[in-house]
Amino acid sequence: MSQRYLVTGGAGFVGSHLVAALLDQGAEVVVFDNLLTGHRAAVLPGATLLTGALEDPDAIEAALARGPFHAVFHFAALSLVGDSMRDPIGYLAANVGNGLRLIDACVRHGVPRFVLSSTAALFGTPDRMPIDEDTSIDPGSPYGDSKWMLERALAWAERIHGLRFACLRYFNAAGADPLGRLGEDHRPETHLVPLAIDAMLGRRAELAVFGTDYDTPDGTCIRDYIHVTDLATAHLAALARLDQGSVTYNLGTSTGHSVLEVIRSVERAGGRPVPHRIAPRRPGDPARLVASPARIMRETGWQPRLASLDDIVATALRWREAHPGGYGG
Ligand code: UDP
Repeated sequence: MSQRYLVTGGAGFVGSHLVAALLDQGAEVVVFDNLLTGHRAAVLPGATLLTGALEDPDAIEAALARGPFHAVFHFAALSLVGDSMRDPIGYLAANVGNGLRLIDACVRHGVPRFVLSSTAALFGTPDRMPIDEDTSIDPGSPYGDSKWMLERALAWAERIHGLRFACLRYFNAAGADPLGRLGEDHRPETHLVPLAIDAMLGRRAELAVFGTDYDTPDGTCIRDYIHVTDLATAHLAALARLDQGSVTYNLGTSTGHSVLEVIRSVERAGGRPVPHRIAPRRPGDPARLVASPARIMRETGWQPRLASLDDIVATALRWREAHPGGYGG
């Protein structure tokens, strides 16, 4: 019998790619999403979409009544560091409140496994690279702290109620489904790879490079870009590992790329220049964030398959070329 899963935020960027990976395995998938930032068209036809809000306890009950679920994946959250700095309490109330309501309902319904989308943002500005799971926690934003609070809540839910959990700390998710079914469509878009592609395609005037005076070889920020499909397979690997106990994994490739390197990769993929200008630093951006994924690789055998920046950018470009209006057009 195939397993059934509940995926909150399954109409969003990373969530939709996890739904695809689950469906590709023959699983039954129920997506729970308020469609504020997610897209109906990002939910593949094999999945069941329930439109609802995590603020609404009755909607959560109705979703869990579709079980029993082998696991619940919790992606749905506000996820912009800058917004969280402007509205810290609102961000904490939404992300922590919604997450706690969901965890509590999972415990009451006897859901055995819970997978949390967590973030590199809970490490703040570490001085040690690459960042492994033992790097000290020091969230530099309410967004990062909201995920840390949920990680702590899961530790209690396990200790008291036996809920097995995986906390998966994403570095920079990018790219698009290699089969072309899904892509990245944030509104407004704030992420580097789609913005650089759109500038190259002439869909926006230019890309602003946020700071060239960082302590890095070319002066621009370095990030660890991980293909969204590799992130999805990491979820499956972590899930399988839960039979041996709860896990916390940093998900990246262990390779960092500067903003200028991303621009050059986009130019290689598209054969055209990316118009860009130097802009001031974006507040809160650490110079360098690179993951050590050694633990998940050692414990599960997971490997990123589309690990090169050029592979990531090529899949993202293909989707944006094929979908000029994103999911809307
Ligand atoms: N960035 C940039 N211009 C943009 C958007 C992003 O220079 O228009 C830089 C940003 O400062 C960071 C990197 O690109 O160093 C990745 O930013 P993104 O917002 O994609 O992800 P984050 O690292 O903030 O999660």
